[in-house]
Amino acid sequence: MKAAILGATGLVGQRFVQLLNHHEWFEITTLTGSERSAGNEYGSAVNWRMDTELKRKVAELTVQPTDPRELDADVVFSALPADEAMEAEERFAREGFVVVSNASAHRMEPDVPLINPEANFSHLSLIDEQRRKRKWDGAIVTNPNCTTAVLTLSLKPIALDFGLRNVVISSMQAASGAGYPGLASLDIIDNVIPFINGEEEKVQMETQKILGEPGRSAEFNVSASCHRVPVIDGHTEAVFVQTEKPASPDEIIRSMGEFVAEPQKLKLPMAPEHPIVMRAERDRPQPRLDRSEGHGMAVVVGRVRSDPVFSGAKYVVLGHNTVRGAAGCAVLIAESMKSQGYL
Ligand code: NAP
Repeated sequence: MKAAILGATGLVGQRFVQLLNHHEWFEITTLTGSERSAGNEYGSAVNWRMDTELKRKVAELTVQPTDPRELDADVVFSALPADEAMEAEERFAREGFVVVSNASAHRMEPDVPLINPEANFSHLSLIDEQRRKRKWDGAIVTNPNCTTAVLTLSLKPIALDFGLRNVVISSMQAASGAGYPGLASLDIIDNVIPFINGEEEKVQMETQKILGEPGRSAEFNVSASCHRVPVIDGHTEAVFVQTEKPASPDEIIRSMGEFVAEPQKLKLPMAPEHPIVMRAERDRPQPRLDRSEGHGMAVVVGRVRSDPVFSGAKYVVLGHNTVRGAAGCAVLIAESMKSQGYL
């Protein structure tokens, strides 16, 4: 299938290029950018920050303007900034394109699926409602904010087995989450920044939407505190949960460790064999050691223990923010859509 990437020169756009370079189902045919890069060869327009070589065939593609009239693609991956995505993604969907987006612009609209495939595969059915309501053949499907993607994957087995009442999360988020060039080095080296604009609200609302029913958010409470730390890739999150049914740390460890969902059962190419990897060492997970688990698509959980305040459990989860938290999740969504006949 022909794949286009909107905002292909940014950090998430580059991650899409890297992941799709050798993908067995999708071939990159179109890359778009802003006026700054449109008209130039991708290889010269992009400041390539990935740790693998850029394929010559892709480097030689001319960056196109972000315009559906110029496009020939079966699926469109969007890595546009949210303000640009709002209008641009609707334009593509109206022209009949299926857009799988990283941007926050449409995530909370009731008829737009917000998908983390292992956590809420069934929400893809909202595409039918969206097409009926908006009278378009295309579609907009979104992936979660990076912190939410890591969190909801770790929470899903707990929600299934024990139910959730309260969730408190404190994040330590990588610098790459702010895009490129992102924060000034003098602001982030030797420092922690205890504020990420809009992030806590996104984590709270998106978690409830993903772990709810299609069209109806879950009712458990979520409280998030988000912080930027001097790590390049990999968001670490300290999570505290109060469950509906009592759950011991051992039961939670078993529930997470045994968890598999539709992407694993369907053997989708991007699906990690074990979506949640459990570590028993007392000092794991760590970003440098664990962010590439499952090619960046698995989350790694450690330090599961009782929580005296909630009479529940607490743990630490880590996930790769531009793979599981962005481009990789979007590619897995597209694979999920193909498996259900939406592509
Ligand atoms: P970024 O590095 O700043 O890249 C932005 C991209 O959008 C560039 O390709 C840029 O093209 C393009 N662009 C900017 N203005 C445009 C316009 N007016 N028209 C068309 N293209 C335009 O940002 P990023 O980190 O990759 O993030 C992209 C999106 O993913 C954002 O919505 C972000 O919130 C979301 N996201 C990011 C992460 C993460 O970990 N970084 C995780 C989840 C979601 P030029 O280079 O040509 O200007």
